Amino acid sequence: MANLDPARWTGRIWTGQWQPGSAGDHDVFSPSTGKHLATIGYASPADIDASAEIAVAAQREWAARTYEERAAIMRRAGDLWRAHADEVTEWVRAESGSAAFKAANEVEIAAQECYEAAALTSVPYGEMIRSTQPRLSLSRRLPVGVVAVIAPFNAPIVLSIRAVAPALALGNAVLLKPDSRTPICGGVALAAIFEEAGVPAGVFQVLPGRGAVAGERLITNPHTRVIAFTGSTGAGRRVGELAAINLKRAHLELGGNNALIVLDDADLATAPSVGAAGSFLHQGQICMATGRQLVHESIADEYVARLAEHANALTVGDPAADPTVNLGPIIDEKQRDSIHALVTDTVAAGATLVAGGTYQDLFYRPTVVDHVTSSHRLFREETFGPVAPIIRFSTVEEAVELARDTPYGLSLGILTGNVMRGLDLADRIPSGNVHINDQTINDEAPAPFGGVGDSGNGSRHGGHQANLEAFTEAQWLTLRGTPPSYPF
Ligand code: NAP
Repeated sequence: MANLDPARWTGRIWTGQWQPGSAGDHDVFSPSTGKHLATIGYASPADIDASAEIAVAAQREWAARTYEERAAIMRRAGDLWRAHADEVTEWVRAESGSAAFKAANEVEIAAQECYEAAALTSVPYGEMIRSTQPRLSLSRRLPVGVVAVIAPFNAPIVLSIRAVAPALALGNAVLLKPDSRTPICGGVALAAIFEEAGVPAGVFQVLPGRGAVAGERLITNPHTRVIAFTGSTGAGRRVGELAAINLKRAHLELGGNNALIVLDDADLATAPSVGAAGSFLHQGQICMATGRQLVHESIADEYVARLAEHANALTVGDPAADPTVNLGPIIDEKQRDSIHALVTDTVAAGATLVAGGTYQDLFYRPTVVDHVTSSHRLFREETFGPVAPIIRFSTVEEAVELARDTPYGLSLGILTGNVMRGLDLADRIPSGNVHINDQTINDEAPAPFGGVGDSGNGSRHGGHQANLEAFTEAQWLTLRGTPPSYPF
């Protein structure tokens, strides 16, 4: 794709044209090899302010277009993700360390998000309201104007496009700040696709930069009205605080420490493979990853033995060089050291290492730790690494208490031979997403996705209703044939 040619964007930010960023250049490295991959521009607060001005002007013309024009552009964007999938996937594998199947899945979800967004342009956007007056009274949803999207590294395209696509489709301009470790697939790729699809200059902009500088200016700039933030709970609190002071709406999609409950009637032929996928997919660097495996004591020995077999059989390596590897690298040393400290502290506190627990460079072996208890760090903290902590339980009541024993509430998985038992548990454990007879990682463009508690402020991405509420403002509108008479 000509638009993805580094000659166009090296050392630049996207404002509708590629231009140097005033905060200098930023180098991007492969987490697998340490090799220099690219150089991008960094936006300063002054750049963000200038971009917001451009966005305000561009948004008016964009919102005035017919819904069918916006839908056609979003459909074209969906087609382009598919047409350029091989090229984009290569960047995802190299820059974010994603295994080939995860990278391909990410690009396909991007296409689906664009097709869903195209359909969103024509859903009913208001309702008639009864009135005691001789008038038509109605409410309608209007674009908010400028939306800021701030995204993390782990699924750089999906976690950007799930907000960018619906916000654009509904007539907003969008300023996107990708993570500093993944600005090419999480930023340049989106700029390239939407430019080729025909999004007018200035309506969508990509402004890489440090979170505390560029990210915070995106929130405090007076023109951005809605902030869609995905990242850690710590940074999310700061984003929520800044948004509140500036009287803005913030959609916060934050961390998780998700439980997979394996009941005594679960199918042991399939359960360990499902559990392995939940804990090891993308090296566990997924907000919905299974961070705690609660297993009934009557089947735990066999389950753990089979899970360890799965872990030991998985291959770990550079996904850019080898499309068959199951796991790629951890994103950086800081994250790898944090994972390893959680594992070694928990084992030192009495848990049993059954598989993995070792690493070379940034490649961490899939790890199984048995006999974890609720006092261990692996139970209490989000690991964000390829680790399956096993917590054994004896009664369903105990499983419910263990699953609830976390401030997070993002995703819950339950494996059982009786779906009604699963439904009963789902009713008793607070969670934004529940999957009965599946692990905790699931994402589909038409489904409303979000967490409760420390996992977010309960707002949702996905699904027409949730997106309409997320990226528009309600307006009450009345119409009369003639003005009323007043005693004035
Ligand atoms: P992070 O440090 O919070 O960073 C995420 C993004 O926020 C980056 O673009 C970062 O910029 C920016 N940022 C950091 N501080 C900011 C601030 N004060 N103001 C504005 N922006 C700021 O996230 P991470 O730890 O790398 O990512 C992993 C976390 O994200 C995990 O906790 C995971 O569970 C969570 N996550 C949640 C979801 C969900 O949907 N609930 C999905 C994926 C990941 P820089 O480029 O400077 O770092």
